[in-house]
Amino acid sequence: MSLAERDHNVIWHPYTQMKTAALPIPIVRGEGALLYAEDGTNYIDAVSSWWVNLHGHAHPYIAQQVAEQLQTLEHVIFAGFTHPAAVTFAERLIKILPQGQSRIFYSDNGSTAVEVALKMAIQYWENVGTPKKKIIAFRDSYHGDTFGAMSVSARSAFTAPFWPYLFDVSFIDVPIPGNEAETIQQLEALAKTGDMAAFIYEPLVLGTAGMVMYKPEVLNKLVRICQQHNILTIADEVMTGFGRTGRIFASDYLELKPDMTCLSKGLTGGTMALGVTSCSHRIYQAFLHNDKSKTFFHGHSYTANPVACAAGLASMDLLLQPETQQSINRISSSHAAFAESIKVLPNIKEVRQQGTILAVEFEVGCTSYFSNLRDTLYNFALEQGVILRPLGNIIYIIPPYCIAKDQLEKVYQTILGMHELVVAAK
Ligand SMILES: *Cc1c(COP(=O)(O)O)cnc(C)c1O
Repeated sequence: MSLAERDHNVIWHPYTQMKTAALPIPIVRGEGALLYAEDGTNYIDAVSSWWVNLHGHAHPYIAQQVAEQLQTLEHVIFAGFTHPAAVTFAERLIKILPQGQSRIFYSDNGSTAVEVALKMAIQYWENVGTPKKKIIAFRDSYHGDTFGAMSVSARSAFTAPFWPYLFDVSFIDVPIPGNEAETIQQLEALAKTGDMAAFIYEPLVLGTAGMVMYKPEVLNKLVRICQQHNILTIADEVMTGFGRTGRIFASDYLELKPDMTCLSKGLTGGTMALGVTSCSHRIYQAFLHNDKSKTFFHGHSYTANPVACAAGLASMDLLLQPETQQSINRISSSHAAFAESIKVLPNIKEVRQQGTILAVEFEVGCTSYFSNLRDTLYNFALEQGVILRPLGNIIYIIPPYCIAKDQLEKVYQTILGMHELVVAAK
């Protein structure tokens, strides 16, 4: 029996309709931007394996640092104990995070980083004696798949069975160009109610919504309104963090800084599952009390896993090398040039770019009809040896920074091929 068939007998894959899905592609090895299948075929990982990989697959430096950590200390309970990797990683994160972040709380993934931020925000207002109950979020956002994270995410078909169990959230529109004034008005109206505990947002780029982008200037205005009305701000940098938008964090494009950030995905360079919620001194301080009920009662068995922290440290070493910043700049300008050339073609609705993230939105007929075309496009890319996962009628690239010039060129050519299929289908 092949690996794919054995998989099919025992495994339930994420976001996959198991009845109709094709057999999964068995990947046995990775190197740089390439993934190698069991049959020797290789694929350019143009989506960084669900947006996590920063420096390429099986990076020798990360592998070596992780191996050393594994042979020294694989794990230790993080209540009452600590270890060098967690401390050093926290110190170094605080150095590069947007100004004002003073504490690092570890968890396991992006969803838990969001859960922790929401719980901290709500309990913060309890602890300081002015309980506020509502959270503000963007209508089309995605913050994860656990119940709290689903609650602050778009009410979409993906979460429909759980709607009755999700807590009530005040949604505002994404301030895409042209919509800015309206969003500001919506936020101002909510702020005046006085019951808003926090505003959680994906800064500059809403990933799962389809790489929807908006300007730092308008986000800065939204953060200012929150600060004026004593609403905590939570920047969910799970996808945008660690160089994706051209700077280390998307929040670096803003003058005003958030009270909390959520990190995961690129946090370990795509090597290990790890989540971080950082917060300002003001928030941390509200939990310091002789009354034990003010404690933040949250933790996971694998909190601050040393191997994951070692991967995070190694990835940060690579990220901060000048060569990596050069690669980020190279990808950004390459994307910009491709965007210019493709946006003039027929059936292109919009081309969006922020740093290393490029999204091409195709003009298509009705969306249900398009859902078949989506699979056609996905399979077409695979046949070209490129992994590109369309979000509806949107194709995006979010590559590892080590992607070579000719590999990137092949990804662009594949998108042009997809475009031809879209035009032909019209
Ligand atoms: C992926 C993502 C999450 C959830 O992270 P997981 O590790 O998949 O749980 C949260 N927020 C944003 C912005 C994301 O892109």
